[in-house]
Amino acid sequence: MYQRKKSRPVRIGSIQIGAGLPVAVQSMTKVQTTDVDRCLEQIGRLTSAGCRLVRLAVPRRADTQALVQIVRQVQIPIIADVHFSAQRAIEAIEAGSAKVRINPGNMSREDILTVVDAAKANGVAIRLGVNEASIRDLSDDVPPNKRVRLMISRIREYVQLCEDRGFDQLVISAKSSDPIRTIQTNRAIARSFDYPIHIGLTHAGLPEDAAILSAVTLGTLLAEGIGDTIRVSAAGDPVEEVHVAYAILEALGLAERRSPELVVCPTCGRTEIDLLALARKVKASLQQVPGPVRVAVMGCVVNGPGEAADADIAICGGKGKAFLYHKGKKVTVVPEAQLADAVQRMIAQLSRVGDHATAKTKV
Ligand code: SF4
Repeated sequence: MYQRKKSRPVRIGSIQIGAGLPVAVQSMTKVQTTDVDRCLEQIGRLTSAGCRLVRLAVPRRADTQALVQIVRQVQIPIIADVHFSAQRAIEAIEAGSAKVRINPGNMSREDILTVVDAAKANGVAIRLGVNEASIRDLSDDVPPNKRVRLMISRIREYVQLCEDRGFDQLVISAKSSDPIRTIQTNRAIARSFDYPIHIGLTHAGLPEDAAILSAVTLGTLLAEGIGDTIRVSAAGDPVEEVHVAYAILEALGLAERRSPELVVCPTCGRTEIDLLALARKVKASLQQVPGPVRVAVMGCVVNGPGEAADADIAICGGKGKAFLYHKGKKVTVVPEAQLADAVQRMIAQLSRVGDHATAKTKV
């Protein structure tokens, strides 16, 4: 477990963040907020996937009106994502949002203070979400290496504005689509402020690209103890964002493993079975397993028994056959043609038993 940077606690509806509490996974709905049914459907799936905070865009009056109905029907705190309009932020607060994210780069000081007063009166948190692309005086004249300093000086200004108004239920974020600047800016935020930090790489791309870029960026920060809430921004189903976020947290030991883990050797000149096809079948079978089962699919005896020792089930390939292991003990030898079925039966049994730790495996 990494040494988490201690920030002050901030309440967001039913949950608290900061103060060394577990990193909370956040996502956003990807449909019009006025489409209440589809929003509720996405929020329901996000909640089941472990998402603890969900954000909705509210650009129009109709969106904050819809928010009233949404807030009443969900189990997790709702965050309103507001740009340009203090009025929308106030409507969202009145609608029952637990937090409003404002982008101070596109709001006047007077409007920010109006939102701060409303948040304070209603016990609502505010995220000061600075975005590199929307810092007001950012232009092509500001070279990339100066943008980190610019973002930090803007955040300092906005934090001071809130504190002078007697408001401290703040969360800070500074996002860029550039991994290095995102890392540098968040390191500087962690050094400069003791408010919880929301981390994310903005506009990270299609899911496969976003997963890699987010793992590098968020993983680096989390490994340094920085980050109280995280969001993986990917174009596509928001539930995928949550899966990637948990994969990052689990890899760093910052979240308990919730899903099956598949270890697969990369194959080499020693591999004598169709390991890739087998691994794909095993992965498909693992989708029926609700818990943190570890399965190793290995091509030969070089590392097979070693990985088997740490796995619930392991396959160690040979020539036209494979050895199957359960909890590190070799249980049988199966011809390659029957391998996928045999492994599938072992996995199904673990799934039926429900507790992989006590499963008695028969092949
Ligand atoms: S486990 Fe065996 S087959 Fe797989 S990469 Fe290592 S040496 Fe090669």
